[in-house]
Amino acid sequence: MLGYRHAFHAGGGADVLKHTTLVFCLEYLCQKETACLYIDTHAGAGSYAFAGGYAEQNKEWKTGVARLMEKTGKIKRSETPAMLNSYLSHIKTSAAYPGSPALAQKILRPYDRIVCYEKHPADFLLLREFLSHDCRAEARNADGFEGLKSLLPPPSRRACVLIDPSYETQDDYEKTASAVMEALKRFPTGMYLVWRPLLALDKAGETLRDSLMAMYNGNRCCAELITGDKRHAIGTKRGGLYGSGLVVYNPPWTLKAALEETLPFLADCIGWDHVSGFQWIDKRGNAQ
Ligand code: SAM
Repeated sequence: MLGYRHAFHAGGGADVLKHTTLVFCLEYLCQKETACLYIDTHAGAGSYAFAGGYAEQNKEWKTGVARLMEKTGKIKRSETPAMLNSYLSHIKTSAAYPGSPALAQKILRPYDRIVCYEKHPADFLLLREFLSHDCRAEARNADGFEGLKSLLPPPSRRACVLIDPSYETQDDYEKTASAVMEALKRFPTGMYLVWRPLLALDKAGETLRDSLMAMYNGNRCCAELITGDKRHAIGTKRGGLYGSGLVVYNPPWTLKAALEETLPFLADCIGWDHVSGFQWIDKRGNAQ
């Protein structure tokens, strides 16, 4: 069994980018009345105590969400990108840092459905307990890459899928690419968010981004946030993680303007050397 526990990293820079975008996408989906399905292929434990748990050991949240809250606390709400206000409103009303299943629970409506996969036995038990009072939600102790296939296409033809592996082994990169390809074949109009790390000693994250952007002809975008100095990341834990990125397929059309405003703000606040990256390719192949 692999050792990754998301509790050590909850609320860090990677979570801020991922969860800000996830909140935006789910809120957008909920603007239409039709029911939707949320699938979390790598769900983690659901929610993470700031104090007393693993999150206290690494304190990654102190360099991520805590810094963001400190900065936005000092400026007017109207000076903070709206996308961040929305994300932060969900954090401020939580006793613990909400992971992706918790955010989905907060945003989705009573008639929507949530399916979460988690393979780690201990995190699965925490996740199952966390979701146990929610009749919309189901926790599955199974492989999320495999499970995804069985849920697509959803009957309502409306779904948001988060693919957020831990990339502890090299084959997670290949599995991500093939799971995305298969999912897009079965349900090409779904909204998908695919997370990947940027590692100082390994180009796999960049290679995956390029193949993810090339494997689909519809609207897609990719956002990156650099949270550490690449040179200093070498030799540190997590294979020299110095940033992370998200590829989004069929993003809300409003996501482009929202990320163009939010990424530089995040780069100033929690980034390293103010570096972020963004690319939007529309269904005609025009890069913007
Ligand atoms: N999505 C969560 C969030 O944003 O709050 C964080 C998930 S964490 C990055 C990745 C999780 O995937 C870990 O808890 C790990 O145990 C789990 N995992 C690893 N391989 C898996 C697989 N093949 N299927 C399902 N879960 C897996």
